[in-house]
Amino acid sequence: MRPTGRLHLGNYVGALENWVALQDEYENFHLVADWHTLTTDVEHTKNIPTHTFEMVVDWIAAGIDPEKSPIFIQSKVKSHAELYLIFNMLISTGRLERNPTLKEQVRDLSLESTVSIGHLSYPVLQAADILMYKGEVVPVGEDQLPHIEITRELARRFNNLYAADAPIFPEPEGKLTRFPRLTGTDGNRMSKSLGNTILLSDEPDEIQKKMRRAVTDPEKVRRNDPGHPDICLVFGYHQKFNPSEIDEIRSGCESGALGCVDCKLNCSRKLIDHLAPMREKREELVSRPEEVKAIIEDGNRRANEIASKTMAEVHEAMGFG
Ligand code: AMP
Repeated sequence: MRPTGRLHLGNYVGALENWVALQDEYENFHLVADWHTLTTDVEHTKNIPTHTFEMVVDWIAAGIDPEKSPIFIQSKVKSHAELYLIFNMLISTGRLERNPTLKEQVRDLSLESTVSIGHLSYPVLQAADILMYKGEVVPVGEDQLPHIEITRELARRFNNLYAADAPIFPEPEGKLTRFPRLTGTDGNRMSKSLGNTILLSDEPDEIQKKMRRAVTDPEKVRRNDPGHPDICLVFGYHQKFNPSEIDEIRSGCESGALGCVDCKLNCSRKLIDHLAPMREKREELVSRPEEVKAIIEDGNRRANEIASKTMAEVHEAMGFG
C-alpha cells in the first residue's frame, strides 16, 4: 500500500483484512510503497514519514503481527529499484498504456497530458515489489488485478529469457476479498483522492456524520418510498458489517417500512462497534512511536536479506556475475 495517511474502509475490506487472515497460512510481506506515492504526488514528499507511521499503525491495529509478517519500507530496500530497471526493459510502453487502472486514475485526477514515465510504469515497480519476495499470492482490491497480470507477464518473460531451465520467479495470483471494490459515501469507488472515505480511525461522531451524508437510492425520496437495496451503498456496508440483519433490512427497504435515516443510523452503530477495538489498539500504538519505528527497522533488515538473495540469483541468471 502507498503511504498516503490513515487507511479507509476500502483498504480494509479490499485488502488489509485478507492480509490479516492469510498471515497464519502464508509467509507474508507487507510493503510500504513510498516510491509509489511519487506517481501521483511529487510535491509532498516531506509528509511520507508521517503518513507511513499512520498507515503502519493502522495495519498493526487491524491485526498484522509484524513478527510473523515483516513490515518494511520500499525505499529502504534499494534492490527494488534495480529489479524495476531490469523489468522496464522487458515490457513495452504500449502494454503499459493499455492498463485500465492507469486510465481510471488519469480520468479521476485529470492527468491527461501530465502522466510521468514513473506513473506509466507503476505496475513494473509493483512487479519488482512482488517478485523480489517470490510472491505467489497477492491480496489486493479489484483495481490492482491488471497489475498482477503484468507481474505474471514479467515473471514469464524473465524466466524464458534468462532462467528457462530453473525459473526464478513464480507467476503470482491476485486474491480478492468478498468486497473488492467498496463504494465511497458519494457513490463512487472509495478512494483517498476522491474525498469520499470513512477512515478506520474516524471518531464515532465523524462516522455518523459521514454516513448521514452518504448518497442512497435516488428513487427513495420519502421515508416510505420503496427502495432498491442492491444499488444502495449503505446496504453494501450492512452486508459487510451487519450480516445478521441483512434480510430484515432488505425487506424493510423494499417495502418502504425502513427509512434511510434509521437505516444509516443502524449501519453507523454497527460500523463503530466493528472498528472500536482497532481504534483502541491504535491509540495505544500512537503513544509508543519508538516501538513502531523498531518494528519497521526489523522489517527492513529482514526484507533486505531476502532481496539480496533474489538479486544474486538474478545477476547469476543474466550473466552479471
Ligand atoms: P492504495 O491506496 O492504492 O495503495 O490501495 C491499497 C490497497 O487497498 C490496494 O490493494 C487496493 O486495491 C485496495 N483498495 C483501495 N481502495 C479500495 C476500495 N474502494 N475497495 C476495495 N479495495 C480497495
